[in-house]
Amino acid sequence: MARILITSGPTRQYLDPVRYLTNASSGRMGKALAEAALALGHQVTIVSGPVEVAYPSAAEVVPVVSTEEMLTAARARFAECDGLIGVAAPCDYRPVKIEPHKIAKTGEPLVLHLIETPDVVATLGAEKKPGQWVVGFALETEDQRFRALLKLEKKHCDLIVLNGPEAMNSPENSVEVLDAAGLVVAAISGSKDEVALGILRLIQTRLAKA
Ligand code: C5P
Repeated sequence: MARILITSGPTRQYLDPVRYLTNASSGRMGKALAEAALALGHQVTIVSGPVEVAYPSAAEVVPVVSTEEMLTAARARFAECDGLIGVAAPCDYRPVKIEPHKIAKTGEPLVLHLIETPDVVATLGAEKKPGQWVVGFALETEDQRFRALLKLEKKHCDLIVLNGPEAMNSPENSVEVLDAAGLVVAAISGSKDEVALGILRLIQTRLAKA
């Protein structure tokens, strides 16, 4: 039995009290991974941004809104976990300034100054202790394997799951899993449930202690 932390869903970065930046992540792959991990007898904590999907009740769910909150919540729980599956799509940019009141229309273009938010997987990957493992995801549209491997290295992942943009908000997925040596260790296609089970089995055989 492993204690598995899953980051899932999108995050939001507010510009003012009512407007925010985000992306189309649904949380479905996170939900499928959580269900597969629980079915295989593991303990699961999910740190999730705002989603419609219902996570399994047997998982501990920690709801967050922004990328910074996701990092803080995930970091606090990672110390108690054996591994991290980073399937969230955290918003990569935030406005330099959050306006305290709703920005009023002026008829003129609005210029937003954005800065990068912290990378959750990269931060936890850099902090992992011996025995802990990290599995990242990479959604790529070109030079897929090369870019995924760069991310694996940069984010200190043990495995990286490569998928395409058609994965977003879809019930199906088609992935390749790459290891730190750059080898494609699995290619899995099917429903997100089937893909999740394949990824979990791989984690069990390659990363998790018996
Ligand atoms: O760089 P990119 O967003 O494509 O990397 C994808 C991987 O990094 C995923 O595992 C995702 O959960 C993670 N990530 C993160 N924090 C960010 C951006 C990405 O944890 N701010």
